[in-house]
Formats: sequence, structure tokens, C-alpha cells
Amino acid sequence: MESITPNTQDNKCTVKPSEQEILNAIRTMMLAIGEDPDREGLQNTPDRIIRMWQEIFRGYDATKKPRITTFKNSAHSTEMVFDCGEYYSMCEHHILPFFGKYYFAYIPSAEGRILGISKIARVVGYCAARLQLQERLAREIIDMLSAALDDKAEGFAIVMKGKHMCKTMRGVKNKGDMTVSYFTGCFKKNRQLRNEFFQMINMQ
Ligand SMILES: [Zn+2]
Repeated sequence: MESITPNTQDNKCTVKPSEQEILNAIRTMMLAIGEDPDREGLQNTPDRIIRMWQEIFRGYDATKKPRITTFKNSAHSTEMVFDCGEYYSMCEHHILPFFGKYYFAYIPSAEGRILGISKIARVVGYCAARLQLQERLAREIIDMLSAALDDKAEGFAIVMKGKHMCKTMRGVKNKGDMTVSYFTGCFKKNRQLRNEFFQMINMQ
């Protein structure tokens, strides 16, 4: 009998299945789609999927959480800091990939701390390595980065463009493109600042 660990924080029960149970479940899924899990090409596929999940779903593992380096804002700068890059995630409705570019900016507090810029991509990658909604992903990235600055930065902005395979591969087969944005602090209050951020995005 599998032990059940109650997760008292959010009142859920989590059962960690054994590796054999996961292998069997993947085999069952192959049978469900009409495959023969024992044919040569598929023999090691369940095992490969388990190894791959460890990487693409590392966002559930608190020990893989990136350490966010921060520095004292010794120049007392309140200029916009901008970063952009790519992300890859999995949609929680279909467990299919969605991916695209993210555009991030923040304004540090003059008397506070600043982010090590290379850590932003790590935080994006970590938050994306879960079953996600694009909107929640944007918010979780900002929440994690804001917390690293003790929620003292003047404001954060993120725009995430995403191509959803669940839309491009199936159903209506539209392009599956979606853009979400999330703003806090001065970016939420100040339209001029948001426009500067959008101009930075258009320059990329
Ligand atoms: Zn989906």
C-alpha cells in the first residue's frame, strides 16, 4: 500500500508513485492510443519519459529552485532594467508544450537591492518547468523575483508571447499564438513607463 503524505499547507494529499507504477502507467497510455508498448522502438520509451520529466518538470522540486543573487544598489539607480529570452513550458490542460519569448523589466528601489540579471532566465526556466497556464507563469516569475528583493522594487513588468501546441496541433488548428502581460507597482500605475517598456520590446 502506497503511503499518503498529507500536504497540510494547501490541504491536498500527495501520493508519490513508485517508478514501476509510472512505467506501467505510460505503457497503459500507449495501449490506450493503440500502440504496442513491447515493440522494439518503444521498449525504452517509458524510461526515457521518466528521465525527461525530471528535467522538464524540475519546477516541482524545491531543491532545484534557483538561488537568486542580489546586490546592493550602490549607484542608487532607478533606471529600467530590461531582459528577454526564450521559455518552454507545458500547458496544464493538455500536457502539451507552449513556448515563446519573454520580455521582462523592473525598476529597482534607490535604497534597495538589484537582481543578478543572469538569474532572471533561471527563474523563468524554473517556473516554466511545471504544468502551467501562461497567465500564472507570468505572475509566478514576477512573484519569485520580487520576493528576492524583499518586495521592495518600484515595479515589475513582463510580457510573454506563447505558441500553444494544443491549439496548433488539434481542434480549431488556429495559430495558437497568445500574449499575456503582468505589471506591478510603477508599471501598473504609470502608462508612460509601460510605453517605454513596449518600445524596448519592439526594438528586440
Ligand atoms: Zn492546452
